Amino acid sequence: MPPVFRFAPSPNGHLHLGHALSALLNADRAKAAGGRMLLRIEDIDTSRCRPEYEAAIYEDLAWLGLTWERPVRRQSEHFDAYRAALGQLDAMGLIYPSFESRAEIAAMVAMREAEAPWPRDPDGAPLYPGAAKSLTTAERASRIASGVPYALRLDMARALSALTGELDWAETGAGLAGETGTVAADPGQWGDVILARKDAPASYHLAVTVDDAAQGVTDVVRGSDLFHATSVHRLLQKLLGLPAPRYYHHRLILDADGRKLSKSTQATALRELRGRGATPAAIRKAVGLD
Ligand code: GLU
Repeated sequence: MPPVFRFAPSPNGHLHLGHALSALLNADRAKAAGGRMLLRIEDIDTSRCRPEYEAAIYEDLAWLGLTWERPVRRQSEHFDAYRAALGQLDAMGLIYPSFESRAEIAAMVAMREAEAPWPRDPDGAPLYPGAAKSLTTAERASRIASGVPYALRLDMARALSALTGELDWAETGAGLAGETGTVAADPGQWGDVILARKDAPASYHLAVTVDDAAQGVTDVVRGSDLFHATSVHRLLQKLLGLPAPRYYHHRLILDADGRKLSKSTQATALRELRGRGATPAAIRKAVGLD
């Protein structure tokens, strides 16, 4: 079976040089391995994703010289698959609804932080303090019945105790601190992550895990900013009985101030560079591939 690679952008802005590096690396590695190249549109965040950005993704990637298999998987068309995975985790007693707003969570964290430092996840966000975990079944049901919006969270402590054996992955690239080879997954550092947003039956972590399996992805090539997210993906794969792909986390393209590129900075957007006369070959060079 040929290896299967995928590039999985979100259509919430224009692709920049960092995306070009990721897409080109996927395509180069797929070609070298005689593998397949897929494109996935990660559009579960309907408030930020726009059809014009999706159209621009196809245009920018084609201009770069990339090809990919059709049809393209769009996450917004697969909510049933994510609901099924949530149902599996629910049957295992591993998810629970949380009803708080962001502001309420921030206030809870601030209160705890007044006493002692509160743990943060690898992205720097405070861990969910877990208040909704202590609601009774009746309290949950009554809030849901009265229409209070809720997210679904993974009960991390229970999920970790449901695991048997090692949880690790094969890393052929490297994390931000150079981690490579067999890497031990540490999902506990994320706390009770959201698996279904208030406005969609999925979150990034759940959708990416379900989709990589559904698409038969064998090789995940993506930026090292997602290195720690792999711990959550490996945990979900294990809980859902899904296969583990190989992972290659690549270096990030940084701006002049040493920060990760942002979709809101037009200067590094591929279409902006193209408008200023850049060629696909110049883009390959700019991202350090040639
Ligand atoms: N959609 C994610 C992003 O645009 C990438 C997901 C992945 O490669 O796992 O950052």
